[in-house]
Amino acid sequence: MNCLACGSESLVGGTIFDSNGSKVSFKLDDAPIWKSLFGVGTRNVRGYGCVHCGHLQLAVDFSQKDLMKYQQFEGEQPGVLERLNSEVEPPQK
Ligand SMILES: [Zn+2]
Repeated sequence: MNCLACGSESLVGGTIFDSNGSKVSFKLDDAPIWKSLFGVGTRNVRGYGCVHCGHLQLAVDFSQKDLMKYQQFEGEQPGVLERLNSEVEPPQK
């Protein structure tokens, strides 16, 4: 990974905490709020600080399941009807 601001490769990895000492998480838009209280639908956020210019950039720790779910729509996004139809399909178990 390179710094987006200056292009340097000197990035130091770290964890982002808020002032209460809680880890900052990324909540998926399609995960209900109440579920996120139990850590469902939230993903860890990693921070990378650039030693060269101080720029801070963030990354999300997506699970393998997330990648499969969201990458199927990579590139041109399907229309609303197409997307709805794909959600109606019964879950494969
Ligand atoms: Zn930089």
